[in-house]
Amino acid sequence: MKRYLFLLFLPVLLAFSPFVISTETLQIRIFAHLKIKSCQFVLTTGNYKILADGNLLSPIKINDVFSFTLQGDDSVNVYKNLKFNGRFKYLKFINESNNEMKVKIVDPDRKIRVYQGNMSVNVSEGFLRIINEVSLDNYIAGVTEAEAGVKANIEFYKVQAILARTFALAHINKHVVEGFSLCDQVHCQAYFGKPHELSIIRAVEVTKGKVVVDQNLNLIIAAFHSNSGGQTANSEDVWGKSTPYLKSIIDTFSTRMPNAKWERKMLTEDWLTYLKLKHNFPVDKMEVKELALNFNQEHRKVYLEYNNQRVPLKNIRQDLQLKSTYFNVKQCGRDSVVFTGKGYGHGLGMCQEGAMRMAKLGYSYTDILNFYYQDILLIDLHQLSFFKDE
Ligand SMILES: [Zn+2]
Repeated sequence: MKRYLFLLFLPVLLAFSPFVISTETLQIRIFAHLKIKSCQFVLTTGNYKILADGNLLSPIKINDVFSFTLQGDDSVNVYKNLKFNGRFKYLKFINESNNEMKVKIVDPDRKIRVYQGNMSVNVSEGFLRIINEVSLDNYIAGVTEAEAGVKANIEFYKVQAILARTFALAHINKHVVEGFSLCDQVHCQAYFGKPHELSIIRAVEVTKGKVVVDQNLNLIIAAFHSNSGGQTANSEDVWGKSTPYLKSIIDTFSTRMPNAKWERKMLTEDWLTYLKLKHNFPVDKMEVKELALNFNQEHRKVYLEYNNQRVPLKNIRQDLQLKSTYFNVKQCGRDSVVFTGKGYGHGLGMCQEGAMRMAKLGYSYTDILNFYYQDILLIDLHQLSFFKDE
């Protein structure tokens, strides 16, 4: 009943919701991690209008190759089909209709990717900066493939698309001081341009405008990981802050998937020395040493602990570069220990492999989201605009 009452007031609440609805397009800095000295654009479909320092350049045709090289501190040399075209500070390729172009980073050498929407090139902090101005849906489709891979079930792609949209809108100003919305790295969300899978484009269309909000109508922190190992984690145990919708649950869908288990061997001496030197854990005591050499987690624990001395498992995971904090330790032969672990990633929110399994078993994207996130609501941003306009 409480829930229905809440829904009754939803339009009013949405009208005062704190987040701003975007926006048809986003500015994504692409190849944001690279120090780019030269790159090429090749138009593959449609027409682009090109502005160079605000002036129109001669029209671009299909298969024309535009090359850009860094010149000095703030300029770009432009070549069209290898002929010098001029030196400019800012170039903008404006998409006239559903256009696509291939982008090749030449120095440093990277594989070709295909992008839709507008592109701009200028110099920032001594290197070329490329911004892809792309529609929200085309961006979400690209992120979905980059984060979820190919050949998955469409229901799983719908989940991933909704989470990508939720994240994008919650972080739309993440790089605003640098002059764009989001970067294309995991710092924001991985985005490698147009996806190859047609079912991803369909998944984005079917879930158009849908985002996940909490009971206060704030966009959720759309955390996900590869495999939970059979149990997800609490946000307070990973990030130190409790979040109502990121609670540990038992997740049997993930336990037979590829990243469900892992193993790592280590010299006993290295393990004990690490605990003593890095964490001051008293492994000189026989019972503490025993504990460290026979550590078990039937359910997820947060610490390796003895009396009041605690070593956070997340620190062990980070220091030893383990796949998860959900591991047991036991002795193996005379001088080694073996870590047998479950899952891959921080364990918060959706487990991707579990969600893939659920999709395969016939669960819907709403079932999957409600399984991995607690007390959430799926709302449509277009409804939100409607209520805002009222
Ligand atoms: Zn970023």
